[in-house]
Amino acid sequence: MKYYRELRNYCETIPLVDCHDHSGACEPRYTDPIMAVKSGYFTNDIQSVSSDEDIRILDDVNRSLEERWPILEKAWKRTCHTGYARVTKRVLKKFYNEDELTLDALKRMQSKLLDLTNEETFDDILEEANIAARLVNRWLVRNEILDGSYKLTPRARIVISLSNYHVVRSYPELQELVAPLGTTVTSLDEYLDACRKIFAIHKDFGAVAFKDLSAYERTLRFDNPTRAEAEKVFNWFMEDPRRSAAFPDEIKPLGDYLFHEFMRMARDLDLPVQIHTGQLAHMRNDIVKANAIGLTKVIELHRDVRFDLFHANWPYSGELLYLAKNYPNVTIDFCWTNIIDPIYCRNMFKQALSCVPHGKIHGYGSDYLGSVDRAWAHAQIARDNIAGALAEMVELEYLSLNEAREVAYAWLFANANEFFRLGL
Ligand SMILES: [Zn+2]
Repeated sequence: MKYYRELRNYCETIPLVDCHDHSGACEPRYTDPIMAVKSGYFTNDIQSVSSDEDIRILDDVNRSLEERWPILEKAWKRTCHTGYARVTKRVLKKFYNEDELTLDALKRMQSKLLDLTNEETFDDILEEANIAARLVNRWLVRNEILDGSYKLTPRARIVISLSNYHVVRSYPELQELVAPLGTTVTSLDEYLDACRKIFAIHKDFGAVAFKDLSAYERTLRFDNPTRAEAEKVFNWFMEDPRRSAAFPDEIKPLGDYLFHEFMRMARDLDLPVQIHTGQLAHMRNDIVKANAIGLTKVIELHRDVRFDLFHANWPYSGELLYLAKNYPNVTIDFCWTNIIDPIYCRNMFKQALSCVPHGKIHGYGSDYLGSVDRAWAHAQIARDNIAGALAEMVELEYLSLNEAREVAYAWLFANANEFFRLGL
């Protein structure tokens, strides 16, 4: 492609806003070469082409490399062209100077495995990836945030985990959520009050958004139940701490009600809401319930809440393009997607350019847990995808090279910087 190299070089100079990550600590310290090859998402493609049993053997670091290599080799030969495999290839080349995955390569890696628990190493890799800021979503840091002791990983901005607070089904679960406030909740009103306080403390700590990942467990089709319906469920499990409401059907009225209440809190706190839509990690899950189109009623009702919809709704691009085009309060977030399916991204970047305002696209989010070696590789692939898509559009004379540069800058940096008010 005529314009690819030029745009790709330009993308390399653009600082990135990493719109979604999970790094709660500088980690890991790799000790096993096979784990250094397959950790992160790639393990899912290996599982997809082998078996659960093979994964158990590969993960058993007490077995020798020689014993495990035939399983990895067989799988690698059949899955070395996916987006996830491309992450591994780049990591092998960049950090271990290996062009091919072989048993000898694994043996050579053994003595130079990355130690990402070293904060300097961790930050150096972020620097090299030119990642300026990261929106980090953790699950279990409530106490540390509430008492102010939480230590962020380099370049991190905190995002509030929302799902825990509305997927609630029993007295002990609920009390644990509010425990950091030092209060015991006895009614729905008190619970809502406690949540409001917790979210406000997160915002004071520097939170820039909410993040909801309930699509892993429940449908995104939130109904709009009455308070009475919600309170009935709430009061039922509250009156006997040994009770637990059935998930997901029995608690749905309460969960749906709480979700709407939380959207009002997001509006009042003026924080955008990131929602997991599309592709689900960890293999074997029901994708239909995670389709962003299920959020239509929520988006339409809460017009003052800004929704950042994740993972480009893979594989339902059309539905998300529709939502972003037709609702002022919806943006498309390509976090994780650039490595789930690079070609989907290239196609969707092109299609989005032609139908969705380009100011509503967030182009990159690493979505790893630590593992900045992989965040670096992911950043490279995101730049490839955006440069590739825009180069094609310039070739079509859809826009000029200069305009393509502006779009790339917006997608990798400027849109997210403005949307999340990062002030970079
Ligand atoms: Zn994630």
